Amino acid sequence: MSRPGLQDDKFCVKVVIIGDSGVGKTSIAQRFAQDSFSENTASSVGAGYFVKHLEIEDRKVYFQIWDTAGQENFRSLVPMFLRDAKIALLVYDITSMESFLNLEAWQSDLLTAEPEVTVAIIGNKSDLKDYRKVEVRKGQGYANRHKMLFTETSAKRGTNVEEIFFELGSQLLQRN
Ligand code: GDP
Ligand code: MG
Repeated sequence: MSRPGLQDDKFCVKVVIIGDSGVGKTSIAQRFAQDSFSENTASSVGAGYFVKHLEIEDRKVYFQIWDTAGQENFRSLVPMFLRDAKIALLVYDITSMESFLNLEAWQSDLLTAEPEVTVAIIGNKSDLKDYRKVEVRKGQGYANRHKMLFTETSAKRGTNVEEIFFELGSQLLQRN
């Protein structure tokens, strides 16, 4: 029996990961939640849902990550998927200029459904630098213009994955 809001230090946040098919959304969720990676994620289509918590500033932040089941192929994420998300990872693949150029459209869908969401722009597959098509300053510039966080990640190697969740969680705590 305790007053609402003071029960415990548990803080639950809905996270959505959006962006073109193949940029590594499922792989980022899998790396973060299970610390694993598969070269062939065809089997992960429809994976759905991941949970993982981090301790941030003495609080347990529970990230409830919604993964798409491939609907992004048809650019038809239903508003229900996006609604009530507190955090969004807007992901492109550094080896695909097209995936970078599509960020605008994903962002527009996202902010229409959930204007208050805290967003990070993610350039994934940073381990594939030899095949890079999108310069770091392009991704950084996009994020700066929209006052969003930015990082490049490698779901394959685990680079910056937990770090960006920590950063986003910290920002949210400061607002709540
Ligand atoms: P999604 O469609 O956005 O969910 O993308 P997936 O997570 O299914 O990944 C698509 C493909 O890219 C798979 O073959 C993954 O193994 C591969 N992939 C994902 N992340 C990385 C990464 O950081 N580096 C490399 N080299 N490959 C990746
Ligand atoms: Mg996927």
